[in-house]
Amino acid sequence: MPEKILLFESNKIIIDFNKLKPDDYSFKFGSYFGTSFAQKIITIKDPKYITNDKSPNKKFYPISILHEIGHSKLHKSPPNKKPVGLIKYEMEAWEYALEEIKDKKLKYNAEELQKFISKCLKSYIKNNHA
Ligand SMILES: [Zn+2]
Repeated sequence: MPEKILLFESNKIIIDFNKLKPDDYSFKFGSYFGTSFAQKIITIKDPKYITNDKSPNKKFYPISILHEIGHSKLHKSPPNKKPVGLIKYEMEAWEYALEEIKDKKLKYNAEELQKFISKCLKSYIKNNHA
């Protein structure tokens, strides 16, 4: 896991993801973002899977990591598979991430960010992983 990824730096904004995650969790790279409560592993999508520099996935990479950290802090087990429980579980992690970027002054276009979050919520329901 390259340190560069875990220490996000842009326009004097520094986010040290290692300091935000719970101590008993570790990070690893994978093909998609996810949090394993049983193994206490936060999987971060390997940047090699994000090939398009202009894609929202690239732009929202830091907040996507914060979203997973949110799960590791707020939740103890995966949600039930019913859409209502899943959406609540996902929204809680997004709310954590949104609070974190507020503190860190990481600026996103609100409308684009909302679109990205909606897209993620739809994909969770479709793919059943988050
Ligand atoms: Zn999630």
